[in-house]
Amino acid sequence: MAPAPQECDLAVVGGGILGLAVARELTRRRPDLKAVVLERGPAVAGGQTGANSGVIHAGIYYVPGSLKARLCVEGAREMYEFCEREGIRHQRCGKVIVARDESELGRLDELERRGRENEVPGLRRLSAAELGEVEPHCRGVAALHSPATGIVDFADVARALAGELEAAGTPVVLNCGIEGVQSRPGRIGLAHGGGETCARFAVFCAGVGSDKLAVAAGASPDPRIVPFRGAYLYLRRERSDLVRSLIYPVPDPSLPFLGVHLSRHIDGHVSLGPTALLAPRSPGDLLWPGTSRMALKWWRTGITEIRHALNRRALARAAADYVPEIGPGDFDGGFAGKRAQALGRDGKLVDDFVVSETERALHVRNAPSPAATSSFALARLIADRAEPGLD
Ligand SMILES: Cc1cc2nc3c(=O)[nH]c(=O)nc-3n(C[C@H](O)[C@H](O)[C@H](O)COP(=O)(O)OP(=O)(O)OC[C@H]3O[C@@H](n4cnc5c(N)ncnc54)[C@H](O)[C@@H]3O)c2cc1C
Repeated sequence: MAPAPQECDLAVVGGGILGLAVARELTRRRPDLKAVVLERGPAVAGGQTGANSGVIHAGIYYVPGSLKARLCVEGAREMYEFCEREGIRHQRCGKVIVARDESELGRLDELERRGRENEVPGLRRLSAAELGEVEPHCRGVAALHSPATGIVDFADVARALAGELEAAGTPVVLNCGIEGVQSRPGRIGLAHGGGETCARFAVFCAGVGSDKLAVAAGASPDPRIVPFRGAYLYLRRERSDLVRSLIYPVPDPSLPFLGVHLSRHIDGHVSLGPTALLAPRSPGDLLWPGTSRMALKWWRTGITEIRHALNRRALARAAADYVPEIGPGDFDGGFAGKRAQALGRDGKLVDDFVVSETERALHVRNAPSPAATSSFALARLIADRAEPGLD
C-alpha cells in the first residue's frame, strides 16, 4: 500500500462513509486533483459506519428545513441508486413507527406532519388493524408506515467507495492517524506516524475524533463530541420471524435518538437496540460543562438507559411493549457502536448536522444518524463549501 504523500491538493481525514463520499464527490468534480484519504484504522468503515442499525432512513423525524430533513430525503434516493448500480445488497423493506397507546398519538401526528412536509415518499397512517397486516406480531393503537425506508450494510457502501477512489487514482491510506495539525504557508500540515502530509485544503470527517482535530486546527472547542455507546441484542434466528421489517417506537422529540427499535439487517439478523449510554473518551468529556448540564436535565432518561444497558430483561421488556411475544430468552449475541454526538457547552445535544471552517479546512462537527443515509447529499454540501479553497 502506498504511504501517505508529503504533498497533495486535498486531504480527507477519516475513512468512514462520509470522508469517502466527500473524497469521491470532490475528485469527480475535479479529476486533476491530487487527493488522499487518511484513515487511522486498519480498514475503512471501522468507526460508526461499520456498527449501526443499517437503516436507510426516509426522512420522517427531522425538523422541516433542517439539513437533516433535506439531506436525508435526497441522500436516501442517491443511496438506493448507488447500491443498485454497484450491486450492493440492500432492501426497501419499509418501517412502522408505532404508537403503543393514546398518549403517544399527539407525537405520532407531529411525526406525520414532519414527514409530509419533508416529502417522505409513500408515508401512510395505519390503524391498529392495518398495523397487524404489515407487522403481524406487533401491537399498537396506530402507526406510520414508511415503505421507502430500507436496509443496507453501510460498510459495504464504504468499501465500494474506497474501491472506486483507488481505481480512479486517489489512495486511501490506512493505519494513518492524524496526531497534529499545523498551519504552513499556503498549506495545512497533517502530522502522522509517517511524517507530515501538506495539503492545499483538508476536510476532517473523523467521527468521534472530529472535535479534537478541529481544536488542533484552531476551531472552538464548542461543541464537544461526547460519545454515546449504542448496544444491540440479536434476536435468536428461530424467533426472527416475529419482525418482518423495522419496528420503531414514537421517540421523545426533545432527544436526537430514535428510541429502542427492532430492525432487520441485510445479513438476516434482527436486532433490538440501541441503548444510549454515555461513553466518555477521557475524563475531559466528563469535565466538559455541557456534560453536567445535560446530566442534570436528562437524569431520568439516563437511569432508564443504564437499566437497558445493564439488564437484558429491561431491554427485552421495551421490545415487548410493541411485540408482546418477545421475551428475555429470545436473544443471543449482539454488537455495539459509538455515536459521535456533539454536545454544546450549554448542555444541549446538537440536533442538526454541523460543518465548520478553519483556515484551509472544513470540519464535520456533528454527523450522527442519519448521516450514513445522507452521506452522498452531505458530501455535496461539503464539496460546495470546500471548492473555493481548492481554487
Ligand atoms: C449505534 C448507531 C446507530 C446508527 N444507525 C444509523 C442508521 O440506521 N442509519 C444512518 O443513516 N445512520 C446511522 N447511524 C449514524 C451513522 O453511522 C453515522 O452518521 C455515519 O457512519 C458517520 O460517518 P462518518 O464517516 O462521519 O463517521 P465514522 O464512520 O465514525 O468514520 C470516522 C473515521 O475517522 C477515523 N478517524 C478518527 N480520528 C482520526 C484521526 N485522528 N486520523 C485519521 N482518521 C481518524 C475513524 O477511524 C473512522 O474510520 C448510527 C450510528 C450509531 C453509532
